[in-house]
Amino acid sequence: MASVTLDTLRKEFDRGTIVAVDDLDLEIEDGEFVTVVGPSGCGKTTTLRMVAGLEEPTSGTIRFDDEDVTDIHAKERPVAMVFQNYALYPHKTVMENMGFGLKMSTDMTKDERRERVTDMAEMMGIAHLLDDKPDELSGGQKQRVALGRAIAREPEVFLFDEPLSNLDAKLRTEMRAEIQKLQKEFGVTAMYVTHDQEEAMTMGDRLAILNDGKLQQVGAPTEVYENPVNEFVAGFIGSPSMNFIDVDVETDGTTAAIRSESVGLDLELSAEYVAGHDVETGPYTLGVRPENIKIVEGPTGDETLISTVEVVEPIGSDNYVHLDVNEDFLARSTPDIKPAAGDEVGIVFDEANIHLFDAETGEDVFLSDEEIAAAVV
Ligand code: ATP
Repeated sequence: MASVTLDTLRKEFDRGTIVAVDDLDLEIEDGEFVTVVGPSGCGKTTTLRMVAGLEEPTSGTIRFDDEDVTDIHAKERPVAMVFQNYALYPHKTVMENMGFGLKMSTDMTKDERRERVTDMAEMMGIAHLLDDKPDELSGGQKQRVALGRAIAREPEVFLFDEPLSNLDAKLRTEMRAEIQKLQKEFGVTAMYVTHDQEEAMTMGDRLAILNDGKLQQVGAPTEVYENPVNEFVAGFIGSPSMNFIDVDVETDGTTAAIRSESVGLDLELSAEYVAGHDVETGPYTLGVRPENIKIVEGPTGDETLISTVEVVEPIGSDNYVHLDVNEDFLARSTPDIKPAAGDEVGIVFDEANIHLFDAETGEDVFLSDEEIAAAVV
């Protein structure tokens, strides 16, 4: 199998007025599963299409191991791609669909192709469908055929473009696990594109987060969740999303306090915290995840701030408590904490669980320049 290296990869459209992919550097190790995630229009599909050879880069290079494949035709690249819309030929049977790539890209005999496809179909649990046409299949079966067809070609690099978007939630969960199992079993290097951060968190050895064509951070899902390098990543990864409040920090170098007059927030930082972090006086954006907020029914005034409950959404395992701190402020509490809409509650969070982002650049101010640089390779 092959490692994939993208080196200052760039794609412009419409004579440079649209920069879809902005000097992207990314390394996917041999056998690694990297999920590329970001909001609609951030350049995910364009990146994948350049790796597949379906889109010509404006500049930069793509290497498979040490081989520069930037100018190599799509057909000559050892890649297989799986799309959202399955891309099956409607008039061909499952057997013919699965064998078509082999017919076009190898010199295998018909019998050899049949054998390979039958083995693959057995592995994918679709051997009984080999004589069916695509319109006789369910969405999940179609996607299994598309996956089987891709694997049958024995690619070195597997490319997935939102392959599960057309499936219902239960099937999507099943297929996520199946794709990961297949990828590990075959040891194929994989690049998986999705706009769904929840899907991204459950798949992949590492996530690469894009915004506006620019790479924001690369890391293992938990690493990115716990140490987002900037406000964008902090808000994008995690569901429900991190809450943000505009604050002012005041410090004399030994003690410090975080305040926001508009929401009545007052959080004194400990001397250890101030000594351990590079806290400076100035405006910041404070971030806190919903699960790190404690709700106090019948507040005493000692809490971090006081707010009014807007609505409580029970989701079974937890309650989502919407608060009027600012727009979209939400705490995740245990089911026994169930205040009523209109109740005044105390909100407590502590310094161990907060993030502070530079009010201008959005960067996490407690990460060093080296840590930020390390987050994007
Ligand atoms: P989505 O999740 O919506 O598919 P994406 O992250 O995959 O989004 P791309 O499809 O890669 O994003 O598009 C990135 C940017 O490039 C967008 O602004 C898009 O409009 C633009 N773009 C993509 N293809 C073309 C094209 N052929 N001509 C002009 N602009 C394009």
